[in-house]
Amino acid sequence: MFCMKCGADLGANPPPFCPQCGAAQDVTAVELPMKWFKFVIYVQLFASAVVNLYNAFSYLSGMFAESLAAGMLTAQELYAYMPGLGALLTVLGILHIGAAVFSIVVRQWLAHHQWRGVLGLYAVYAIQIVINVITMVGLLILNASAQAAVALLPGVITVVVMIILNKIYFDKRRSLFR
Ligand SMILES: [Zn+2]
Repeated sequence: MFCMKCGADLGANPPPFCPQCGAAQDVTAVELPMKWFKFVIYVQLFASAVVNLYNAFSYLSGMFAESLAAGMLTAQELYAYMPGLGALLTVLGILHIGAAVFSIVVRQWLAHHQWRGVLGLYAVYAIQIVINVITMVGLLILNASAQAAVALLPGVITVVVMIILNKIYFDKRRSLFR
């Protein structure tokens, strides 16, 4: 763990007082299980990057548009028929690429026990909510597919719950991050 006052690295078996600055330490966090943290850095954030890249590919390649048209129109024909959809999917594709890159950056911060990694994790979730809300509102405004829009709602609610649960989890482990 790290000293709450000066940030000195106190190791896995921290002393009750910081040898650098003398501040008393709450060493109880060291005993807490870290399975979720390990899942986040070894699985979740990599999976988040992969899913974001898949969505980017799906939007930018026209695959998503063709699925909306149920294979009866090409993506270009659908965009001609539905102005705005091509622009929406291009913007979403770029946002998903950005989200994928940011997931990996945050993963590195977290793996190095940096507190900005925890804040970054909340941002990863928040970005996911923003992108999905833009997708839902965009699809509804363009009258493209209410079904595809509504399908995103459970995911958005799940991510809101994830932010709350992660906040509780990481606040208890604040002293394990510098
Ligand atoms: Zn200290």
